[in-house]
This record gives sequence, C-alpha cells and structure tokens, in this order.
Amino acid sequence: MTADYDAIVIGGGLLGATAALFLARGGMRVALFERGPLCREASGTNAGTLTMQMTRVALIPFALEGHAMWQSARDWLGHDVGMVTCDGLSLAFTEQEADLLSDRAAKRRAAGAPITLLSPAEAQKVEPGVSPDILLAGHCPVDGFTEAYSTGKAFRVALLQAGVAVREHTPVDRVEHEDAGYSVVSDGKAMARARRLVLAGGVWIEPMLAWLGVRLPIKTLINQLAITERVAPIMRSVVGIASGLLSLKQYPNGTVLIGGGWQGIGNRAEGGYALSPEALIGNVRLACHAIPALRGARLVRAWAGLEAETDDALPAVGPVPGHADAYVCGSVHSGYTSGLAIARHLAAGILGEGAGPELFPIDRLLRQSAPNPTRET
Ligand SMILES: Cc1cc2nc3c(=O)[nH]c(=O)nc-3n(C[C@H](O)[C@H](O)[C@H](O)COP(=O)(O)OP(=O)(O)OC[C@H]3O[C@@H](n4cnc5c(N)ncnc54)[C@H](O)[C@@H]3O)c2cc1C
Repeated sequence: MTADYDAIVIGGGLLGATAALFLARGGMRVALFERGPLCREASGTNAGTLTMQMTRVALIPFALEGHAMWQSARDWLGHDVGMVTCDGLSLAFTEQEADLLSDRAAKRRAAGAPITLLSPAEAQKVEPGVSPDILLAGHCPVDGFTEAYSTGKAFRVALLQAGVAVREHTPVDRVEHEDAGYSVVSDGKAMARARRLVLAGGVWIEPMLAWLGVRLPIKTLINQLAITERVAPIMRSVVGIASGLLSLKQYPNGTVLIGGGWQGIGNRAEGGYALSPEALIGNVRLACHAIPALRGARLVRAWAGLEAETDDALPAVGPVPGHADAYVCGSVHSGYTSGLAIARHLAAGILGEGAGPELFPIDRLLRQSAPNPTRET
C-alpha cells in the first residue's frame, strides 16, 4: 500500500537528512528515502573541515551558522560527531599566493568571517609546526573539524526520534508528478505519496531532476583524501593553502587527514571511480611542505568521494520551476560546513517560516538560461 506523507525527501546525505529533520520537527509527516545507509556518500567520506577560508563568499553567513550548529550539535542532534574547534590557517608560499590570500581574506571578511592576515612569526605562534618558508597566512579562529564518518549514525537516531520514516537501502527509480503531489517509485512499486518533494541527491540531483523533466547540469568532482598512522602531536590547527589545494588536520587519536580536492579518476554517469596515484603524491608532498614533521608519518589509507558543482559553483537550493511544492537542495561547495544551515533554512521556507525557500534559485542554471554564468572563487 502507498503511504501518505506531508513531505518526501530523496537522498539521505547531510542536506536531505537535515531538511527531513527540521520538516518533521516543524510538524510535518516526513519520509526520507536513501538508496544506501544514511550519509555514506559525500557526507560520510568528506574531510570534515568546518572552514570559512575555503567557503564561497556568498555562503559565509551559512557557514558561520553551520559552524555554530556543529558546535551545539549535542543539544539539537544528540551527538557531537567528534567536533573539535580550533584555529584555521591558510598559507601562502609565493607572492602570487600572498596576493590571492589577501584578496580572498578581504572578501570573506566583508561577508562576516573573522579572518586576519598573519606574518610568518605570528603564524608560527598559532601553529608551531608550520613551515618556516611561508610568506603570509590567513587566520580564522572560527574553524575546526568533525569525524564525518559518524554523521549518519548521529542523524539516524535524531530522525527516528523526530518521527521521520527513514527508508535506507531503498533506491528511488523515479518520481511521478500527479495532481495531488508526488508519488515515489522504488523497485517498480509506488512506495509513498506526498504534496511536497525535496530532491537532495548530492551529485545525483541531475538525474533526480530529470525525473521531473528538468535539466540541470552538474559536474562531479572526485575528491581524494588520505590518512596517516597515529603519530605524536605535530599540529593543532586546520592548515590549508591559498590555492585551496590543501586541507590538513590532526585528529585527537594522532592520525593526520590530508586532503584539498586533488582529483581522482572516474565519471558519475558511467559509475565507478578510482584514486589517481599522481594526485595522491602531489597532495602528500604539499602537506609535508606545509607541516614538515609530517614527513616521518606513513599513510594507512586513501579514498575518494563525489562532490557536486554547478556551472557557477554556487548551490542549487530552492523550488523546482514548473513543479509546485517540489524543491532541490544540493551542490553546496564545502557543504559539510554550511549545509546544515542551508538545509535548515530550506525546511523553514517550506514550512512557511523565515525568508522563504528561494535560497539559491536554480532558474539561473537551467539549460535555457545564459551559458557559462560567472563562477565565484
Ligand atoms: C572527499 C570529499 C571531501 C570533502 N571535504 C569537505 C570538507 O572538509 N568540508 C566541507 O565543508 N565540505 C567538504 N566536502 C563537501 C561535502 O561533503 C558535501 O558538500 C556534502 O556532504 C554534500 O551533502 P549532500 O547531502 O548534498 O550529498 P551526499 O552526501 O552525496 O548525499 C546524497 C545522497 O543521495 C543518495 N541518492 C542518490 N540517488 C538516490 C536515489 N535514486 N534514491 C535514493 N537515494 C539516492 C545518495 O546515496 C547519497 O547518500 C567534501 C566532499 C568530498 C566528496
């Protein structure tokens, strides 16, 4: 029998899980469909960095709010996902990087992020392990990281307690738009119906929107990460680099996570992806350049995850044009930082609260809109 709900969310990553949670807490009967376990794609494989310096300028207010939500997660989610609050440093080794860093810091400061520029000596006071070769560092006291792999565990408990019908391991084949709303089909069977629909499929929002005949091109980034064995304390902040190609932090258990968006090999449409050894070596070299004490550590594991990017690198969050009460929620760059706040605002908008659901309307990105919108850096 097809079950009836007020809202159906498809995609149980961070964005879908957050939207479902706040819709349910707002009084709606909600079903959440996830084809695997909750938060095991981008939302469970990411580097867990909560960063202002690598967040798009337009997302800074959401990133600040998201950071505060992660800090208080024990209160509203029931689990702190291993949140560590610490300083964040973004390094410049060349004049060109120093110019880039100064420009990026000024724009983000204007948007509300408390970023200042430090001399090498000042940066070494914040992070004694940092390379003496730096020319300049951006410093943000609002930074930190979580253990992203435990995100699903935290959300599962909170969603069930909020009364959400959590349907894990239930891939949705398609959605049918009927007069009364939306009907979700899985394994050839109509599983659920609701007046409202939220598509939160990460890199798969493109095929999800195609169910409704909407064409939104999504580029898939294959971000690589690597982790070391446990080593003695060698760093105490999150360290990045002006170009964005580094993200480095040491967990309380001594392991060091090395990332920065170095790209693996593969393709979402064809399925499957693999690590690029060359990219891994480049990423590790850069990490050892930034924190020289890392040179003695051995890598124990490397993996990749898929991150979505629109043509202008800004999110796709808002109503689906031509489909009443259908919404998309995805493609948020550094979305582990700002995604909580963005999805909570979308849920509020759907509930008729706050500024409404038009956060980052997708009309600008659809095929009939102007090609190649300006990208934000
Ligand atoms: C390796 C990596 C490192 C990153 N590091 C950081 C970082 O340090 N800091 C930061 O802020 N951000 C980081 N990000 C970005 C961040 O992880 C993402 O922005 C965020 O997790 C996206 O959440 P999401 O819910 O949109 O997507 P996802 O977590 O991918 O969730 C989408 C879900 O939809 C499900 N789905 C797809 N199709 C169907 C279907 N047909 N039926 C049912 N379910 C379906 C998928 O199984 C998936 O669980 C990183 C990303 C990656 C990949």
